[in-house]
Amino acid sequence: YSNNLVSSMKMNLAKNPDMKAIICEDRWETWAQMWERSNRLGNGMYGLGLKKGDRVALLLKNCFEFPETFVATTKSGFVMSPVNFHLKASEVAYQLNDCGASAVVANPEFIDLLKSIGDQVPSLKHIIVTGDYPSSGVISYERLIAVANPGELDIEISPNDLHMILYTSGTTGRPKGAVRGYSEDYHTGMTVCVEWRIRNGDVQLAVAPLYHAGPCAWYSATLVSGGTLVVVPEFLPDKVLKAIEKHGVNWMMMVPVMYDRMFSLPEDVLGKHDISSLRAVISGGAPLHTPTKLKIKKYFPKAELNEFYGSTELGVSTTLRDEDQLRKERSVGRPLQDLEIKLVGMEGKEVLRGEVGLLYSRGLGGFRGYWNNEQATNEAFLDNEWATVGDLARQDEDGYYYIVDRAKDMIITGGVNVYPVEVEEVLHSMDRILDVAVIGVPDENWGESVKAMVIPKPGADITEVEIINFCRDRMAGFKVPKSVDLVEAIPRLATGKILKRELRKKYWKEDS
Ligand code: ATP
Repeated sequence: YSNNLVSSMKMNLAKNPDMKAIICEDRWETWAQMWERSNRLGNGMYGLGLKKGDRVALLLKNCFEFPETFVATTKSGFVMSPVNFHLKASEVAYQLNDCGASAVVANPEFIDLLKSIGDQVPSLKHIIVTGDYPSSGVISYERLIAVANPGELDIEISPNDLHMILYTSGTTGRPKGAVRGYSEDYHTGMTVCVEWRIRNGDVQLAVAPLYHAGPCAWYSATLVSGGTLVVVPEFLPDKVLKAIEKHGVNWMMMVPVMYDRMFSLPEDVLGKHDISSLRAVISGGAPLHTPTKLKIKKYFPKAELNEFYGSTELGVSTTLRDEDQLRKERSVGRPLQDLEIKLVGMEGKEVLRGEVGLLYSRGLGGFRGYWNNEQATNEAFLDNEWATVGDLARQDEDGYYYIVDRAKDMIITGGVNVYPVEVEEVLHSMDRILDVAVIGVPDENWGESVKAMVIPKPGADITEVEIINFCRDRMAGFKVPKSVDLVEAIPRLATGKILKRELRKKYWKEDS
C-alpha cells in the first residue's frame, strides 16, 4: 500500500462497498458497482491493446461516465487527459496530438468531430463512446464493459508514475499540458480534505466542468476520503439547488460567475430549497468580488465560505478561510500545508512585504512540467523546484496574499504599471454596470493606455464620461481608463475567465 489514490480507494471500498459512489441525474452506483465497472473498463482497454502509461483522452461533458473513467484510468495506470468539450475540431486535434492519445472516451455527440480529425491524429487508435452506441468505427462504452473481465486490474502503480496531463485553459495562449503524477494528485485530494474538513461519507457536488483542472483534481478528495460525487451535467442554478437538497450535498466548488448567476434567481426560488446539509462552499479560479461573497454568506448561512487561488500547474495553492472573508477583502489567503510561496521581483530577488512580485510556489501538489514543451517548463521553473504561472501578487503584514493580476495582462502606461483587475474591481462596484474588462491598447504618447470595455445592465443609461468620472474619484489618475467602449458581450471561458487576448487582438498586431 504505497501512498497513492489506488490504495486509498481500495480501503474506502472495503470499508463501505454499499455507499453511493457516483450520482448523475437518475443514475447512480455504489462503490462496489463502480469498482467492478471500472475494473471491466480498464481490463477492456488493456484488451484493446493499451499499455500502462498510454494516454487516454476524455472528451466528456459532465456525465456519469466521467468519474467512472477517471477511476478506471487511475487503476489501470493510463495517463488521463481531459479535453475541454467547447474546443473546435482543430483545437481538439492539437491536444490529442500533443499528448499522443491512444484512445479517447467521448460522448456520442463528439463522434463526427473525432472522425473528422482522425487523419490528423495518427496516435489515436480507439474511440470509445458512452452508452450502448452502435456506430461503425467506434467502440461502445457499455458493450466494452459488458464483455470485459470484472477481476482486479492489479497494475503496479508507483507514486512517481504519471497520472494526468491537464491542459491549461488557454486564457493567455495555446493550452499547455501540465503533467501531474499519482503522488501529486493523492496529495491534492488529501489537502482538499484537510483544508475544507472533508470526511468519510461526505457528498461532493460537481457542476463546474470536470475537464477543468480544479473540478477534475478535486474529485481525488472524494476518492481519498471515501464519499459520493453528485455530477450535475449543466449549470442550471435551480437544478444545483435541487441537487443539494435531494442528495444532502456537504461541499461544492463553483467559480464566481456561477454564484453570481445562482443569486440572480428570484428570492422565492432561492429560499425554496433546504440546503442545510452544505458545510463548505468553495470558490476559486477567478477573483471573488465582495458583493458575491455577501450573497453567498446570506444564502448559505450555515456553510463556511472558502476562496482558493490555484492553477492547472501549481494546484490549489492558497485559501482564504471563512473567518477572514470580510476582514481580508480581496485576499486569496495563505498557503496550504506542504506548500511554500515566494514573490520574486524584476531582478530575480524576493520582494519586500507589500511589494508586487511574480508568485512562485513549491510543494507536494504541483506539476512536474509541461508535456512536450521543454522551453515552457524551463521558463516556469526556478532552481528546478519553484514554479510560476505568471501571476503577480503581494503579501500584507499578516502574511495574506493578494493576486494583483497576470503579468501578461499588466498595462505599462508612461512607464508605470496598472493592474487591470484593480480597475475592474472598482468598475464592478458601479451599480449600472453588468460586466467589465480592462485591457491595455497602443498609445502614441504613453506606449499603452488603459481601456475599459463595459456591458451596461439591461435598460441602464450610462455614458463613457460618467464611467471615467466614477473612476477618477476612486483611483490615481494614471489608472483611470482613457477610453471606454460600451459593448454587448465580453468573451469569457465557461469558467468565467475573460479572454483578454481576444479583446486585445483588435488593437495589437501581434499579441504577446
Ligand atoms: P493559460 O495558462 O493557458 O492562459 P489559465 O492560466 O487561465 O490558462 P487555469 O490554470 O485554469 O488556466 O487558471 C489559473 C489562473 O486563474 C491563475 O493563474 C490565476 O491567474 C487565476 N486565478 C485562480 N484562482 C484565482 C483567485 N482566487 N483569484 C484571482 N485569480 C485566480
